[in-house]
Amino acid sequence: MLNIKKNEMGFSCEVFPPKRNDDIYEVYKTLDELKLLKPDFISVTYGAGGSNSKKTATIAAYIQNICEVEAIAHMTAVGMDEATLRAILFELKKKGINNVLALRGDKPKAMLDEEFENRIYRYASDLIKEIRKQEKDMFVAAACYPEIHPESANRKEDIEHLKYKVDQGVNCLISQMFFDNNVFYSFLEDLRAAGINVPVLAGIMPVTTAKQLGTSVQLSGSSVPNELSSIIAKYGGDADDMKKAGIDYAVGQIEDLKKNGVDGIHLYTMNKADVTMAIYEAV
Ligand code: FAD
Repeated sequence: MLNIKKNEMGFSCEVFPPKRNDDIYEVYKTLDELKLLKPDFISVTYGAGGSNSKKTATIAAYIQNICEVEAIAHMTAVGMDEATLRAILFELKKKGINNVLALRGDKPKAMLDEEFENRIYRYASDLIKEIRKQEKDMFVAAACYPEIHPESANRKEDIEHLKYKVDQGVNCLISQMFFDNNVFYSFLEDLRAAGINVPVLAGIMPVTTAKQLGTSVQLSGSSVPNELSSIIAKYGGDADDMKKAGIDYAVGQIEDLKKNGVDGIHLYTMNKADVTMAIYEAV
């Protein structure tokens, strides 16, 4: 089981399962490279509403048993019930995985509004409560939002909900991506003031194409500082220059976070081992 400590400047990565089954070998190739960086853990995302949940467990098992790196399997409250959760936790434990990232999830396109509204576990905190009931010894991570969750009315409300979630038995928080470190520092201050004292890992997404920034911002709601917009305007038209500039921007963010003593860096790798290795070497 994982043991993430505060103030120890950890390093971890996230990968996602492929859409096509055959592409799983590409993910394995990426993982074979990522393991060389000896991250504290590699987490694997979970398809909206539970789609592809088997692939999450399969890839997590590869990380845990073949790469010999601690794996965190994501899971969502949306599409979950008590029996399904029991089966997933049993399967994960059988594969030697004792770490999960418990999320609420969003409404999948194919799910009816009514089904989403009537979900059994309303929030991530409800899922965490159930995980703790079924498996006391699991390492449970949860998500947090330096620029507040898009559905929250304000930061005070968002942090109150976060505090309640952490109190259900969260071991560490992983942040949504952000591109302005000052946003993260002020968020951390508010968390500590609210009595949230678990380690908080800073989510960094290297932006290597202009299109990727558009999609990420749309999904995450993260704001884009002028410095990053200028980089996109200057280099966006050239794939190689943009990739290099995006790596440099992420390296700059990480250097500054290190200087400020954050608990850890969590890289959203987008399954790109070369970009992750370049960033790792540079810092
Ligand atoms: P919650 O913590 O439940 O919060 C959701 C909203 O409800 C917030 O606005 C919160 O303030 C509010 N809220 C919480 N508790 C209460 C309450 N008691 N009363 C009223 N309001 C409340 N999605 C996937 O589908 N698969 C993934 O693998 C995945 N991985 C992710 C990894 C990270 C690090 C992050 C940051 C996000 C990830 N997501 C993933 C996206 C996530 O599912 C969405 O952002 C989702 O909208 C919120 O999930 P949550 O667990 O943060 O929700």
